[in-house]
Amino acid sequence: MATSWESLLQDEHLLEELALQAMDRALAEGVLLRTSREPSSSDVVSYAPFTLFPSLVPQALLEQAYAVQMDFNLLVDAVSQNSAFLEQTLSSTIKRDDFTAHLFDIYKQVLKEGIAQTVFLGLNRSDYMFQRSADGFPALKQIEINTISASFGGLASRTPAVHRHVLSVLSRTEEAAKILSNNPSKGLALGIAKAWELYGSTNALVLLIAQEKERNVFDQRAIENELLARNIHVIRRRFEDVSEKGSLDQDRRLFMDGQEVAVVYFRDGYMPSQYSVKNWEARLLLERSCAVKCPDIATQLAGTKKVQQELSRVGVLEALLPGQPEAVARLRATFAGLYSLDMGEEGDQAIAEALAAPSRFVLKPQREGGGNNLYGEEMVQALVQLKDIEERASYILMEKIEPEPFGNCLLRPGSPARVVQCISELGIFGVYVRQGKTLVMNKHVGHLLRTKAIEHADGGVAAGVAVLDNPYPV
Ligand code: ADP
Ligand code: MG
Repeated sequence: MATSWESLLQDEHLLEELALQAMDRALAEGVLLRTSREPSSSDVVSYAPFTLFPSLVPQALLEQAYAVQMDFNLLVDAVSQNSAFLEQTLSSTIKRDDFTAHLFDIYKQVLKEGIAQTVFLGLNRSDYMFQRSADGFPALKQIEINTISASFGGLASRTPAVHRHVLSVLSRTEEAAKILSNNPSKGLALGIAKAWELYGSTNALVLLIAQEKERNVFDQRAIENELLARNIHVIRRRFEDVSEKGSLDQDRRLFMDGQEVAVVYFRDGYMPSQYSVKNWEARLLLERSCAVKCPDIATQLAGTKKVQQELSRVGVLEALLPGQPEAVARLRATFAGLYSLDMGEEGDQAIAEALAAPSRFVLKPQREGGGNNLYGEEMVQALVQLKDIEERASYILMEKIEPEPFGNCLLRPGSPARVVQCISELGIFGVYVRQGKTLVMNKHVGHLLRTKAIEHADGGVAAGVAVLDNPYPV
């Protein structure tokens, strides 16, 4: 896709001046990360990496992604309430993947005891790439949906001002005005506030489960600040703190440092390395409580790659969303090819196809956070090793999406500005709240565009690969 900034990208002096302006504006707007040297301190911070120019995104695909978000909210919520589906879908995976097995084990324990939670809150982000096609018009294809710790809603609320600034410096006022306003942090906070309100105890707090080393703290603060503005107090604690000072009363109300907790918002707990034995115990304690967990353990499981793959199977969406053929059609239109690697003929055939045309596939384990997928030669080696053993069931295969590359300039602290060929990934934030069986909120609350140089197959902003961006609708 040709960009209207193409000629600007060749003017080195101009880029240098614009980059300085853009960085200062990013800092002033609060597009910030802690540094990798001091990830636990806000003494010294830097701007979060971003593109100098907004990237062109077809308006129709933006609209499509927004239009399907409420369907994805409904779907995630339906999966999270369907224990038979979760059990069946994950049965082969949990035999071979310890992390998913551990999550599932907690799920089973909570089910057995009886779920104390009555209000449910989903804050998710569905991610897409734009598959190029022969007719020249790209198609929206889902990469994955994040049901836990979906991040960058806070910083994405602040990047439009930076790109408007750059275009204004160039006296491109009309173009500056076309950059969409975006405020996911507010929408996410409104979801938390609704859940807090329905929990129904004015003195109760929101407990944000935080990592000790958190570079992305300002992203989280944006949500905290919105809550505080509504007189809802947030405390940040680690799993370790919960295991030391968290407790349940006889009604399974959760207390932290003696204060009642209405909502637990996880910004930790999505990777194996984040769990010690004690942390697993803390997670179980939180799950057993009647506090609103965002997400509860079932909703985290609903976001696994194995579930994503099973959802693409013929008839599954129809069974999960009965009587909603239009929602089903909108959802299915965004699915790329997804293939089970369970033992058997279907898995054998998928492996044979991937070995015959490696560039067309991605091999994905049940992991979040970027940098875990295998591509190309690495994928081939893994598949050859896994081919005949049951370990393969802990992975899925996915069709590789191939967007049309375009030029942009990437700004990163400590590195010179780089003009490179890029591809983008669009995320839409979704929020829903359910009380018992009644859905009381279901909306989309904004977007995130991340852009990376084409030489990287994998990885997001936190992984140091992608940078923040804004869609420029065309
Ligand atoms: P994670 O949970 O680690 O974020 P993802 O499924 O989002 O896992 O994959 C990480 C990154 O890998 C994505 O942000 C995207 O850049 C790339 N990626 C994942 N799936 C595909 C795919 N099917 N085609 C092309 N790139 C992909
Ligand atoms: Mg991802």
